[in-house]
Amino acid sequence: MNSLNEVGKEMINEYFPTGLDSFYLYSCPVLAWLWVHGQLVIPQRNEYIISGRELDKRRFSNKRSLDLSPYGKCDWVTGTQTEPVIHEGSRSKFHNEPKRAQLRHYLWAAKKLYNIDATGLLHLRKGRVEVVEPDHERVEDDHRRIIELLDAPMPEPKRIPICRGCTNKDWCWP
Ligand code: SF4
Repeated sequence: MNSLNEVGKEMINEYFPTGLDSFYLYSCPVLAWLWVHGQLVIPQRNEYIISGRELDKRRFSNKRSLDLSPYGKCDWVTGTQTEPVIHEGSRSKFHNEPKRAQLRHYLWAAKKLYNIDATGLLHLRKGRVEVVEPDHERVEDDHRRIIELLDAPMPEPKRIPICRGCTNKDWCWP
């Protein structure tokens, strides 16, 4: 298994995965492929997204962000500079693994860029809060899968629960 720095060197001239890459990787292989190929349609007037943005504005009003360039940016950070707590919220009832993966990616990036062991907190429905543990090897494996998507054809779609509200379903079942 490569160390964090070895993996970083391998990626330096290739592609820098972000938290959203990890999010889509765990959402649906087709969505992840569309995302890394710049083809993903994100509905800007979707009520769910608008209400989420309003919620974020309130949440983030007294929080700070953490720039993890080129690996993305966390918009909801508390704690100290040396012991940050990185938060993500998930409004889904069952489909929370994408947000866990996104958080794990941020924990990886904080370690890689600043040698900081950040804490990850996932805020779920009904006020539940879950600690997301770091798993840097798994994140690096996720990154390899994301990079593989760049040169791969679109994955074969498989019906999953989120297909029902998916705005990209024309790619799968025209
Ligand atoms: S319709 Fe389903 S399989 Fe196709 S992109 Fe959407 S979630 Fe993925």
